[in-house]
Amino acid sequence: MKKIAFLLICAVALPLMAQEAQVSGPDGKLQVTVSCDDAGKASYSVTYDGQEIVQASPLGLNTDMGDFTQGLKWVEHRNGEVKKSYTQTRIKASAINYEARTLTVTLANGRQQNMSVEFRVSNNDVAFRYLLPKKGETGSVRVMNEATGFRFPEQTTTFLTPQSDAMIGWKRTKPSYEEEYRADAPMSERSQYGHGYTFPCLFKVGEAGWVLVSETGVDSRYCGSRLSDCNDGLYTLEFPMPGENNGNGTVEPAFALPGSTPWRTLTVGSTLKPIVETTVTWDVVEPLYETQHDYKFGRGTWSWILWQDGSINYDDQVKYVDLASAMGYEYVLIDNWWHRNIGHERMEQLIDYAQSKKVDIFLWYSSSGWWNDIVQGPINIMSDPISRKREMRWLQAQGVKGIKVDFFGGDKQETMRLYEAILSDADDHSLMVIFHGCTLPRGWERMYPNYVGSEAILASENLIFGQKHCDKEAFNACLHPFIRNTVGCMEFGGVFLNKRMNRGNDGGNYRRTTDIFQLATAILFQNPIQNFALAPNNLQDAPQVCLDFMKQVPTTWDETRFIDGYPGRYVVLARRHGDTWYVAAINATSEPLKLKLELPMMMGEEVTLYSMDKKGAPQAKAVKLSTKKPLSLTIPTGDGVVLTK
Ligand code: CA
Repeated sequence: MKKIAFLLICAVALPLMAQEAQVSGPDGKLQVTVSCDDAGKASYSVTYDGQEIVQASPLGLNTDMGDFTQGLKWVEHRNGEVKKSYTQTRIKASAINYEARTLTVTLANGRQQNMSVEFRVSNNDVAFRYLLPKKGETGSVRVMNEATGFRFPEQTTTFLTPQSDAMIGWKRTKPSYEEEYRADAPMSERSQYGHGYTFPCLFKVGEAGWVLVSETGVDSRYCGSRLSDCNDGLYTLEFPMPGENNGNGTVEPAFALPGSTPWRTLTVGSTLKPIVETTVTWDVVEPLYETQHDYKFGRGTWSWILWQDGSINYDDQVKYVDLASAMGYEYVLIDNWWHRNIGHERMEQLIDYAQSKKVDIFLWYSSSGWWNDIVQGPINIMSDPISRKREMRWLQAQGVKGIKVDFFGGDKQETMRLYEAILSDADDHSLMVIFHGCTLPRGWERMYPNYVGSEAILASENLIFGQKHCDKEAFNACLHPFIRNTVGCMEFGGVFLNKRMNRGNDGGNYRRTTDIFQLATAILFQNPIQNFALAPNNLQDAPQVCLDFMKQVPTTWDETRFIDGYPGRYVVLARRHGDTWYVAAINATSEPLKLKLELPMMMGEEVTLYSMDKKGAPQAKAVKLSTKKPLSLTIPTGDGVVLTK
């Protein structure tokens, strides 16, 4: 009788024993629970302030040395903490304190191989990654797929952009993170191409809060990942598609042992404030190399955006150098075809001319290569180390400060190796790098000191390409501060003062937004080098108040604060550069937006308010803000406001 009772107790108690562990952020609101069930499957769940945010979601890797997705046994777990303070250029803030509690769970599969999952939980961010030790002689591992998933409660709605097919679009250059967003869509809606969604992915968990899912720390040792379509509330982590990069390179990333995967991140809040202000992308990664160079960030002009391919000639580039000089800008970006229409020899003269006007040069290159049909050159230079380094020696000798490399082939590890190789070689030659036609940066501002921006968005060029993009400009601009731009630099190439999207300012698409809306985007969109879409004619035809604003607008920030907004509807953001605060607001709704703004950084102060006057002309006026009352503002549709102090 005694013996039977003992067995019964064991049968009840064993499944509950040490198969679960928890970790909470420092303020206790964000909580992660990791568990392993009777079938040996590991999962995690997330709550915030007692509200369910992520339901039990799978963890695990399936690798060529063993399966870590099932038949797992709990070996041990350890709790700890991480505290670090760091300074960082090229992102939304300059001095960052990161404090997180950690939980590392070690699980063993049926072959007695261990896998650990490391969680770092700060007040509003969860980051986790897998670690594999080296055991015996096996020195490397190939990951066939991940079980990693994200399961949201049924009331959740989504703010997502789809992954495209591989090898489609302009000269077979996709995927390039240039698809349209859907806002507040149900989870059941299928993605446009059936390949799920690219990071970052924003979810509204009903009244419980918001969660932004992304990844960081992706370098040459892994591929970029994405989310699948939703199946029963579950999104799973997907590797690249076989057709990417013209079918070249594996979809199964590999790394040396001991080693780890990139970090998957979840930023969680009951409001959008943590979503906009998060720095988790950079908190959990470290610089991969030190630079010996002192890179200078700033503003540039580029002829290609309004004047297109026909402007890539010596005389037109002189006009854009002169425009940059008149604006006090640091750079001119010379886009595709320069090698044919100007050539290396005359480029040396053009660079001398620019330098005589205190303007430095960025030059465009295609990344390809064998992974698209791009003909506008230079092509076949950045794709291999021999030609790339030869070209970079020439660039450095001419005093060129940076390159813009366009048209990459997707998210395979093969392509991640190319991004890293270009960055590393460029740093050897004192060159900053902007990527276009490219993937999302994943922690790269911190990992690579000469990385200065990526497109990876339906950027300003689309306002030239199609009226529908002009019609949706305000909607899209009200998404980026909450989604794409919150996890990485966004080289958007905007701020148009032309009313019409063509060279003469007399044809092409119609801009639907006001001049002040345009100025506001210079603050709302963050990239350490901003190539603005100003044109030489703007020196004569644009309002002086706009030119004066654009002459002094900074591109680097010490602090960023969310004030108000809703993705796709409106946004109010404050950013600080040195002692100067900028508050920018835009309205994408079809009604005038009535705001009552708490602006602690400006209370009781005299500020400059940029807005459209009653006659529809931009104005700047001095306004004294109350010490007690919030600031009341009304912003018409497609319009904006900027305040500076
Ligand atoms: Ca593009």
